[in-house]
Amino acid sequence: MVEYIFIDGKLYQENRAKISVNDRGLLFGDGVYETMRSYGGRVFMLEAHLKRLFDSLKALKFNIPFDKKYLGESIKESLNKNGLGSTDAYIKIVVTRGIHKSGLYLDCGSRPTMLIFTRKLQLYRPELYSEGAEIISSSIRRLSRGNSIYIHKSICFLENLIAKDEAKMSGALEGFFMTRERQVLEGASSNIFMVRDGTVYTPPLTQNILPGITRQAVLGICSRNGIRSREKSFYYGDLTGASEIFLTNSIMEIMPVRKVDNTWIGQTVPGIITRKLMGLFKDYTGENSSF
Ligand code: PMP
Repeated sequence: MVEYIFIDGKLYQENRAKISVNDRGLLFGDGVYETMRSYGGRVFMLEAHLKRLFDSLKALKFNIPFDKKYLGESIKESLNKNGLGSTDAYIKIVVTRGIHKSGLYLDCGSRPTMLIFTRKLQLYRPELYSEGAEIISSSIRRLSRGNSIYIHKSICFLENLIAKDEAKMSGALEGFFMTRERQVLEGASSNIFMVRDGTVYTPPLTQNILPGITRQAVLGICSRNGIRSREKSFYYGDLTGASEIFLTNSIMEIMPVRKVDNTWIGQTVPGIITRKLMGLFKDYTGENSSF
């Protein structure tokens, strides 16, 4: 089936969808993006995704010629055009700073390029949810609190791609980043959680990790359902000694982890709390409903 891509207000067939070779996204990785998921045509936590996008656009001094309402309507239009208006879909918005004229300044005055991709959802293998995924620590280390670039969903994705490649080379699903002191930060494309003594822990946003939307949803589910949770820094040794570990992102939702590097995690995978959260998350997205 032909796929249509939304570029600056118009939908183009994929083979005709083109942007300039002078786009700052291509030349400098100067842009941000969002990956979202729709359930039966309803985009999950759309407001939160758009807020994160606009927070980054503002912080990074983008000219913003559109508002959230326009983006929401453009997503709907793209989903409908691609026949995805009432099914589950993958949605990606990319905003680059637009055409490079001269000067390596953020406030270069260019009009941003805005792309929307909407595709049929490709799910992770079901065994990963029933048996757990394997993850590895990346060789790439970050400063503990030093670099606020990671709070943005930047299209400079090379570090993340290297971490993913390292994972693939060792047969794992995901690589995760740590500080030089081995504090655990986040996955290459996910946030990380562990359970110890019945409490769910995830690194705090003060460690300059991506404020994941699924992370936010999971913390909300914990607090509404009496599951103790804390945003708290922890070390690699804490992670490998955890009774349960799981990852979150918009496409994978909640993914249990069975092995970290060479250490097997937990007695049964998914563990009791992870399993409970997986069920509650499905309720929250509306997938556990027959209406
Ligand atoms: N951290 C990183 C580095 C990511 O790329 C992602 C995927 N967007 C996440 C965390 C999870 O974020 P979300 O729940 O918003 O998909």
